[in-house]
Amino acid sequence: MIEKTPSVVVVGSVAVDWVITPKAERETSVGGSATFFSMAASYFGPVRLVGIVGKDFPEQSITDLQASHVDTEGLEVVPDGLTFRWKGRYHDNMNERDTLDTQLNVFEHFDPKLPESYRRSEYLFLANIVPALQLKVLDQMDERPRMVGLDTMNLWIENTRDDLLKVLERVDVLTINEEEARQLTGEPNLVRAARRIHELGPKSLVIKRGEYGALLFHDGDVFSAPALPLEEVIDPTGAGDSFAGGFVGYLARVGETSGESLRSAMIYGSVMASFCVEGFSYDRLKGLTHERIDERFMAFSRLTHFERARLL
Ligand code: AMP
Repeated sequence: MIEKTPSVVVVGSVAVDWVITPKAERETSVGGSATFFSMAASYFGPVRLVGIVGKDFPEQSITDLQASHVDTEGLEVVPDGLTFRWKGRYHDNMNERDTLDTQLNVFEHFDPKLPESYRRSEYLFLANIVPALQLKVLDQMDERPRMVGLDTMNLWIENTRDDLLKVLERVDVLTINEEEARQLTGEPNLVRAARRIHELGPKSLVIKRGEYGALLFHDGDVFSAPALPLEEVIDPTGAGDSFAGGFVGYLARVGETSGESLRSAMIYGSVMASFCVEGFSYDRLKGLTHERIDERFMAFSRLTHFERARLL
């Protein structure tokens, strides 16, 4: 069977988070970069997940992923191991957070093996995980995918910089937080940091700025996407990964990466991030419809549309 939409392989963390916000707390909140990415990208086409969990991972979440048509053949379940755990507390502004605890658990000895059926996928997203594992997955693809995307974090920029630079050389798109872009390049100015990142490999760069939206740098062009002003943000965890899911999912769906498609992808990314933050875990990403996604796309369009009311 020939698939209409090329599929996206994602490798990253599948986690049990403990999330504390100024107003609420959830002790067992299923998260992980690959989980959020998969849920968000699943609305655009087939997604194939590579990751690892332990015996404590809720069965229901595997069912949820499968119900969203995420292929979980590459999700290893270790019967005598524990799932990766992350605990974080958000500041009052909900834009900053502190990591209180990280337990690698099954990640410590994870040796990802790409199922045969994944190896010819045209799109690959290396979601946040230790760069050595990202490299292992990239090396197992039969051919170089049409597009390789990457996300990373401060921990890897600090501790495993050489491996990270090796992966960076081989990717087309990097999604990274504002502070991490500065940390990676040592350059406080974002435009100059972007130029430096292009020199490290990625032709396209998305700088995520939390509640201030995201910037795309591509081919000498800059595009700014807002975040939707929401009255209540419940839990920002996973917003960046959901953004990446919408962004890459849309590009895989349209099958090209022209400047215009990249701009639309930025808005679909922002749409998926806006749903994500409306609830804990992937609660709000589950069970969406294309109508609701399109409605929100139009809300972004209204938010940024302007014409000059009259000439000077
Ligand atoms: P985001 O809010 O998009 O930055 O992603 C949050 C997710 O990242 C959480 O669900 C965590 O489980 C996951 N996470 C936190 N620390 C790490 C880490 N060191 N490696 C991989 N994933 C992590």
